[in-house]
Order: sequence, then C-alpha cells, then structure tokens
Amino acid sequence: FATLPDLIRTHAAERGDKVALADASGELDYASLGGLMDRIAAALQRDGVQQGDAVAIVASASIDYAAVFLGALRAGCVATPLAPSGTPESIVAMIADCAAPITFIDAEAATALAGQHIPGKLVHLKSLGPWLAPAGATPAPVTIRPEDGFNIIYSSGTTGTPKGIVQSHAMRWAHINRNATAGFGNAVTMIATPLYSNTTLVSFLPTLGWGGTVVLMKKFDARGYLTLAERHRATHTMLVPVQYQRLMALPDFDRFDLASFQFKTCTSAPFSAALKADVLARWPGLLVEYYGMTEGGGTCLLVANQFPDKLHTVGRPVEGHDIRLIDEDGTEVAQGDMGEVVGRSPAMMTGYHGRKEATSAAEWFDAEGNRYIRHGDIGRFDEDGFLTLLDRKKDLIISGGFNIYPTDLEAVLAQHPAVADCSVIGVASEAWGETPVGFYVPHTGIDASIPEILDWTNAQLGKTQRLSTLHAIDELPRSAIGKVLKRELRDRLTETAA
Ligand code: ATP
Ligand code: MG
Repeated sequence: FATLPDLIRTHAAERGDKVALADASGELDYASLGGLMDRIAAALQRDGVQQGDAVAIVASASIDYAAVFLGALRAGCVATPLAPSGTPESIVAMIADCAAPITFIDAEAATALAGQHIPGKLVHLKSLGPWLAPAGATPAPVTIRPEDGFNIIYSSGTTGTPKGIVQSHAMRWAHINRNATAGFGNAVTMIATPLYSNTTLVSFLPTLGWGGTVVLMKKFDARGYLTLAERHRATHTMLVPVQYQRLMALPDFDRFDLASFQFKTCTSAPFSAALKADVLARWPGLLVEYYGMTEGGGTCLLVANQFPDKLHTVGRPVEGHDIRLIDEDGTEVAQGDMGEVVGRSPAMMTGYHGRKEATSAAEWFDAEGNRYIRHGDIGRFDEDGFLTLLDRKKDLIISGGFNIYPTDLEAVLAQHPAVADCSVIGVASEAWGETPVGFYVPHTGIDASIPEILDWTNAQLGKTQRLSTLHAIDELPRSAIGKVLKRELRDRLTETAA
C-alpha cells in the first residue's frame, strides 16, 4: 500500500523534470508538483485544518486545482471536489454536509457564490500563491491508513439528490493498481470532463500514480479537443459517450492525426454499439468501456477491439470484482435471466457520508454475508459472461404489463438521419399505466417531419414498445458529465401540459 502523495514524491525524486500536469496556462513538472503539494499541505496545517477533515474545491479543472487536491491528501485530509455547475444553494449544502473547514474556489465559482454564506474559510485559487506556505516547506508527517478517507464524491444526482460517497485510500490504491497494464507511466492523458466526477478520477489518478502526464481541458469542444490531442501527442483519454458522439460527428474528424492514441476509455452512460463501431473504425488505439458506479460496487470492462461481436454489452467483470443479478425479492436470478445488478470489489465505498439509511438501502448480502452494492441498473449475462445493460431501474417503463427499456428505443431513434441526439422517457397513461415518449434534437440541414420520424422508428419496434409521441427539442438537458437528466424531460412535459 502506498498513498498517492507518496507516489508523487517518488516521481518527483526519480523523474522530476517530467511534465505531470498541463492546462491552458502552462505545465508543471513532477519536482514542482511535489513541492507545491507539500506547501499546500503545510498551509492547511498552519490554518488548523486537521487530518480527516474535508477540503472542498469548487472550480473548473486546472493545474492549481489538481495541486490542491493532492496537497489535501498529503495533509491527511479528504479531497472533496464539488460541482461548480450546481445551484449556489446546492454547493453550500454540500460544503455543510461534508463540514469542510476550508473551501477553494476559482473566479467563476466566486461570482456564482457571491452573497452566499459559506461555512469555514474560503481561499481563491487566484490568490493561492500568497496563501501557500513558503517554498521548501514540508508538512508535519501524518500517518495514513488504507481505510482512511481519500475523497468524497457527491453522486451525480442523475436520479435524485446528490449523496456524498466516501472512498478510501485502499479503494484508490486498488484503482491505480488495476491499471498496471494500461501503460499510464508513459501516458499523455487528455481529460475534458470535470474533476469532481469519479469518471474523470479513474483516469486522472492512475496517470499521476504511475508518473504520466495529464492534460486538462477546462471545457470540452470537439475541435478544441482534437487540436490539443494532436499538439500533445496524446496517448490516453477518457471521454463520455456524448463526447465521442460529438467528435465522430465533426465533419473533418478524419483530418486530425490521432496515431499517437493507445488507450481510450468510456464510461458513465449508455454507449451504443453503432457509436463504438464508428470509433473503432476511425480512431486508432484500444477502446475500453467501463461499467460501474461511483459507489464502487463492481466494474465490468469491454476491450471493444477484441470483441467486435460484443459491442452491445459492457463486457465482463474485471478481476477481483463479482457481479450478480437479483430479483425484486433479493434472490439471485437464473443464468440468462435479467435482474438488478449488485456488485462487490476491493474498491467499494465505505458508505454515504452521514446517511446510514441510504447506505443500508444500497447494500445486498449474499448467503455467506458478503456485502454487495446495488447498482440500480437492470442487466443480463450472456452465455459467455458478458453483461448487457437494459436500463436504469428507475427509467424502466412498464406499459400494459410489458417492460420497456428506453435504451432499446433510443438506439433505434438515434439511427434516423434527421436525429442528432435523443432520449426516451415513460409518462403516465390512463390506458397503459405508462407509455414511452421520445425527445429528439433535429439534425441541421436534414428535413423530416415528426410523424415521419415517429413512423420510421415505430416500424422497427415491437408492438408493445412503440413511442406514443415524439417532441423536438433544441438540446437535451444533461449533467456536466454528459448524462441525460430524464427528470428534467419529465418536468418539461408537465410544464407544457399545465
Ligand atoms: P445518482 O446515483 O446520483 O443518480 P449516477 O448513478 O448517474 O447518479 P454515477 O455513479 O456517476 O452516478 O453513475 C453510475 C451509473 O452510470 C450506473 O449505475 C449506470 O446507470 C451508468 N453507467 C455507468 N457506466 C455505464 C456504461 N458503460 N453503460 C451504461 N451505463 C453506464
Ligand atoms: Mg447511481
């Protein structure tokens, strides 16, 4: 067991002039990162921040952000990156929930939070210099145990209010080690998703842990991403499905030189087989899809290049992870049947911060008493042990007694040439209990009427699956990590009806 700050210190000593972090403002090598991390930790101690305290950060990704994250760990604190995109009230609520005695903010967050009462001390990242302990300072030593808190991540809130998920040093150590064969030591990893998301951390932390280079992009745009990747000769990246979608849709995508790429990952939302095939055909290097949750139940992995006939699946459980499927009564289903995913791994959350009930509700125990985490997704294993995800349990539509999985309908709708983006939700129906309703973003320059698209889609769906209505929308509501916020689509319908 080693902590991430220990690993950074080793890299600082052994490969000090190697670039650790790059962003729009410049670059920082490992020797400088090690020094900065120590000065931040010493300044936290000077300010009376204790080992085990949460250190909150509300900012867009930057070198300073990453340094504060590591400095907090070095002082034995729990790094707590929060979404700046939330409402000011939700941000203050999260700071209060984790009881952070200190919060770091960037200029945008400072504007958004103006007038809010923030508990604890506030440090502006733009004045990090004057706040730091003097150059060469080292923090008083702290002893970090594997079970100690490493970070708190607030769940993305796709399906409800965010809950603080506590992840330990042991869990992160397991994450970093799991990637032993992914070549992170020589990686130039492009990151264009926010640092408060687990999705981002699973490539950010291994890159730093193994001594590679992280290139941070503050805000994603397809052309900017490709230009930056070309300039840095990027080898690794983590992107969410909607980012792959936007990249592949760029008319001159094929003109960029992406030959340096070795390892691309994707996680966090349904990634259609058609899109995976497109990425495989046009973008060199491995394409690896992960399925898992921030709570760290169990993880599945699909190396898409190796299994072209399994692109409709999320792959098989990674070594040391156990995934089972259970029915409504909590009994395991028979092989080949569908059920709710529960998972167990060396990388499980300790629990939801300060929420015993929510934690117990998320747990499932097997006959031997082993603890699993409920994923809230419905899946099915094929005869080769590959997991197909049907949908989130909360998004399942029950219509006339039949189960309808919105992702099936979305996959068909998305294939229509006039559809640039789409989503399907269930709405209450007197006749059927619930009925599927579609939303789509029209493709510019392609003309097709709503009835035409509806007929085309329904012609390919089973009788019980058919969309009852279809609405055009300028843009789908998405979380900052690119997940479609279906509850906002539901609200929109109620508003229109009212
Ligand atoms: P909340 O729990 O607050 O509603 P969330 O579940 O979106 O938010 P995360 O832990 O970030 O928070 O996401 C885990 C979920 O994301 C999984 O349960 C699953 O529904 C979805 N997911 C993750 N990876 C994949 C994947 N490869 N394919 C499809 N869905 C995925
Ligand atoms: Mg979840």
